[in-house]
Amino acid sequence: MINLEIPRKFEFLVGQAHQVATEIFRAGSRKYDGAEHSYPKELDMLAAVIEGMNEGGALSGAGAGGVGGSNGSSKNENGNRNGSNMASLLGLIELCWGDVGLLLTMPKQGLGQAAIAAVANEEQLKRFGGKWAAMAITEPEAGSDSAAIRTTATLEGDEYVLNGEKIFVTAGDRAELIVVWATLDRKQGRAAIKSFVVERDNPGLKLDRLEHKLGIRASDTANFVLDNVRIPKENLLGSAEIAPKGGFSGVMQTFDNTRPLVAGMAIGVARACLERTRELLDEAGVEIDYDAPPHVQSAAASEFIAMESDWEAARLLTLQAAWMADNKKPNSLQASMAKAKAGRVGTDIALRCVALAGATGYGEGDLLEKWARDVKILDLFEGTQQIQLLIVARQLLGKTSAELK
Ligand SMILES: Cc1cc2nc3c(=O)[nH]c(=O)nc-3n(C[C@H](O)[C@H](O)[C@H](O)COP(=O)(O)OP(=O)(O)OC[C@H]3O[C@@H](n4cnc5c(N)ncnc54)[C@H](O)[C@@H]3O)c2cc1C
Repeated sequence: MINLEIPRKFEFLVGQAHQVATEIFRAGSRKYDGAEHSYPKELDMLAAVIEGMNEGGALSGAGAGGVGGSNGSSKNENGNRNGSNMASLLGLIELCWGDVGLLLTMPKQGLGQAAIAAVANEEQLKRFGGKWAAMAITEPEAGSDSAAIRTTATLEGDEYVLNGEKIFVTAGDRAELIVVWATLDRKQGRAAIKSFVVERDNPGLKLDRLEHKLGIRASDTANFVLDNVRIPKENLLGSAEIAPKGGFSGVMQTFDNTRPLVAGMAIGVARACLERTRELLDEAGVEIDYDAPPHVQSAAASEFIAMESDWEAARLLTLQAAWMADNKKPNSLQASMAKAKAGRVGTDIALRCVALAGATGYGEGDLLEKWARDVKILDLFEGTQQIQLLIVARQLLGKTSAELK
């Protein structure tokens, strides 16, 4: 039997996240969409509250910060575990129902923490855990093909020296740490790519510019030049060994944690679109009868029901991927399926809701207009729609990346 209820122990978390989403995120949505690159100071107070709650154990993993490490939860009587991956996902869905741009710039969070949690050792977890961490993979010549990374890391005595360029780093300007992907030896291909933790105030890390964007304008997106960035050699995450087989999998494990979260963001935004559209349809006198077949309903009602079922399918896939992570089951396939489905469905729903709402949906007087711009990134970063489908196909067909590209 499928149990679709929120686990009781997370009800408080979801309720708190919803309140924050309503009172802080929704309230600041338009302001920080308009004031791109200005820091949403309301979030500082919120971060302090969340930190306090985390320490008290009330919110184990309300954002990406809590993902992937030991989840500290015990199995229930059915042998199931709902831990920090599920908690993070449920919290994120609520917060993104409020505003995904603001979620992406929450202090003490950041997708870089998922990278740290995926491969850090105990000592590194102590040093870096709980800090605001961005993730820098993309370069001018390496987007979807992350194996093409050119940023180099060279060991000099007790330090690695990093040189190269990183672009489109979410929260790169505001974070405390940046997890940088770099190669130890370009000749050895993907096996030599490792992740390194760089303090944001490292003098070699030079901010080149901040991007202006279609959506998520509350979130800063930074481009950097790495000019002799010196870091202690203990800041390499995972093993320094270049193992030809499986070497890339260390850094790639990050995505098993982050892709369900990005899928969750799309689910949150899409739910906001559906709820707002339902209100507008109600106001327009459109009746929706869930017991009646589509052909006896109005076109708007049957379109709405179809969108809701697509949304539910995306949500269930995403819950499954997070549940598998909490239960230590390999979830690469499900993480990519969830990201592909939720990214596409989120974008589709947002645009179809704008269409159903007509001019109301297109104008700045309604948040539907903003959500339709914000949601697109969720089908793009952490691997585009096409890349997720490629990964799913490789896994199902048992092909390597060299065999299917
Ligand atoms: C707002 C924003 C925030 C971002 N944040 C981060 C961040 O925090 N950290 C980070 O490292 N990166 C970040 N990125 C970068 C993002 O992850 C990349 O843009 C993404 O991976 C795609 O890379 P690309 O832009 O180089 O496109 P390309 O890889 O050049 O792709 C262009 C198109 O070709 C398609 N394509 C590429 N290869 C294939 C293939 N083999 N088969 C089929 N289709 C293919 C793609 O799907 C896409 O449609 C961010 C980007 C944006 C816009």
